[in-house]
Amino acid sequence: MKPEILMLRGLLPRQTAQLDERYAGHRLDLAEDREAMLREVAGRVTSILTSGELTCDAALMDRLPKLELVACFGVGVDGVDLDYCKARGIAVSNTPDVLTDDVADLAMGLTIATMRRIVAADRFVRAGAWQNGPLPLSTRLAGKTMGILGLGRIGKAIARRAEAHGMSIVWHGRSAQSDVAWHRYPDLEEMAGAVDLLMVACPGGPATRGLVNRAVLGAMKPKSFLVNISRGSVIDEPAMVEALVEGRIAGAGLDVFADEPNVPAPLNDLETVVLTPHIGSATEETRDAMAQLVVDNLDAHYAGRPLLTPWRFA
Ligand code: NAP
Repeated sequence: MKPEILMLRGLLPRQTAQLDERYAGHRLDLAEDREAMLREVAGRVTSILTSGELTCDAALMDRLPKLELVACFGVGVDGVDLDYCKARGIAVSNTPDVLTDDVADLAMGLTIATMRRIVAADRFVRAGAWQNGPLPLSTRLAGKTMGILGLGRIGKAIARRAEAHGMSIVWHGRSAQSDVAWHRYPDLEEMAGAVDLLMVACPGGPATRGLVNRAVLGAMKPKSFLVNISRGSVIDEPAMVEALVEGRIAGAGLDVFADEPNVPAPLNDLETVVLTPHIGSATEETRDAMAQLVVDNLDAHYAGRPLLTPWRFA
């Protein structure tokens, strides 16, 4: 009998073939009648396959008495009720490291695109506006300070790239890191007021909800920029939109939003903002590596081996 997996999303064709060989997957996201599918399979399912930002809550997991593992596609696990999993002894796996370079590249892409106004410049050329004179001047990266909120795997990869562009690095996180030379601000608001660009790279979830609040945004200098490759939930989105519309900050590069795929309408009209549709890890190579890690974790679990990349509960 193949182990049965409740799938809240699919994988790529290569890994779908591997899954089909070894498991019975039930695609809840594609079910015409989700309730009927749940009723039918709930008693047999031993794993859930999900993404960090999809909802995998207690109400769903309560219905699966044999659940042993929640395998997440993605490093963030903010959609999973971790307290519930911990209390019930359900293991959780994610896909760290394999996506770090891509997300850091996108963070720098958004940084350069926003500060150097690359997307606005592209629109300017296409609209034929160059005939009427040059684009207004933009902002230099070299010599500026980037403040990173969340100096983890991705935060450090961003820092290394930003240094190569001549930027200085400071950071804010809950705990000090002895192997890091960059200055740490214990207070986020203080750091926001001191930097030229605030880079949001911490995890989402309840602990960081609204961390970049009205006060943090208010502390930022009018000439400073904001980039978010973390989760939309980390920023008070209405306050951020207000600050951008009123020109109280210079611009923003945003890959993630509070209610994806919905983006606050006022952002569409702002030349100072660069918007991408949550594509931090969205390259063929990285998505393949992430999907493979999901399958490898499932395989390890069902072979009785330790998970390759287990989520370490606090
Ligand atoms: P990580 O290695 O676990 O790093 C997270 C960092 O955030 C840690 O240094 C942690 O340090 C810090 N942090 C956690 N809670 C914090 C808080 N309340 N205040 C300040 N800092 C806090 O994770 P990662 O691999 O770098 O990934 C980071 C996040 O990037 C993911 O969780 C995910 O949400 C996001 N992501 C986005 C995309 C995308 O497509 N845009 C793709 C991949 C990942 P302390 O615990 O010491 O505070």
